[in-house]
Amino acid sequence: MAFFWTYNGLKFGIKSVKFPKENDFYDGFISSINFDENKCLNSKGLANLSEKNGDLTCIECESVCPTGAISLHDIYSNSSGKGKASRKSGGALDTNRCIFCGLCVDTCSDIASAINYGKDLNLYTPPFPGNDRGKIFKRSLFVKHIDTGSCGACESEINALSNPYYNIHRLGIFITPSPRFADVLLVTGTYTKEMSDIFFNVLENIPRPRYIVLMGSCSLFGGIFKNGLKDGNDGLLFNDKMKKLFKEDNVVALPHCPPNPFEILNVLLLIKKGDFK
Ligand code: SF4
Ligand code: SF4
Ligand code: SF4
Repeated sequence: MAFFWTYNGLKFGIKSVKFPKENDFYDGFISSINFDENKCLNSKGLANLSEKNGDLTCIECESVCPTGAISLHDIYSNSSGKGKASRKSGGALDTNRCIFCGLCVDTCSDIASAINYGKDLNLYTPPFPGNDRGKIFKRSLFVKHIDTGSCGACESEINALSNPYYNIHRLGIFITPSPRFADVLLVTGTYTKEMSDIFFNVLENIPRPRYIVLMGSCSLFGGIFKNGLKDGNDGLLFNDKMKKLFKEDNVVALPHCPPNPFEILNVLLLIKKGDFK
């Protein structure tokens, strides 16, 4: 077997991606939804302002978004009630609530093409500011993964990290089954009641300093399962109990449904290098 892989390696060359040295993404790679406010009809005020839309010219993308990631009234205001709406400071498409379904892109492509796909990997957020996110790990990074009630697709992306294409081991990143050896807890799934004891058990056994990466829409806010569970589910990001629990930890929110391996790798490398601000 070893001979087979050696022979293939010599014959076909290295097949692992060059990332992070180069952003050698595959054809059709997308990792972000970009909102161009200058193209949006609400910025232009092209059509008549309609009472139905609460003074906004168009609300199509907000209407189709299944997760409430787009709140146009948070982005625009027309406080005078006359003329075009103006941009409010601070409002934006909420990447933590975006499941990357593309409905807004399709809808807007017929209207103004103000929403498009992009290749920005840096959509993670440190949701609870204040903790030291400097260089806290010196050598290899060990990652413990826990599935708290996922559909399995987030796990497929994590598994892909260990294949020869992404090959995370070449970068000194390893998946460990034991929480005691872990530097990072990678959490997927909606945080179901059935998994909560196991989640706490794993968490208790990971020594500090440590990072908690909330990966995928489910772990952030319940994702597409949010309203399907018997008791509803708010995931971990908007959960007050978790905010208290994570007070001494470094938490990273990694959105999308699921995040692709480049996005996961990007966050793990930032943690390893201590480049989180
Ligand atoms: S669908 Fe397009 S034009 Fe309409 S509000 Fe959304 S971004 Fe603006
Ligand atoms: S991609 Fe889907 S979830 Fe994300 S903002 Fe657009 S409609 Fe909402
Ligand atoms: S975030 Fe999406 S891909 Fe990941 S577990 Fe939830 S539903 Fe599945």
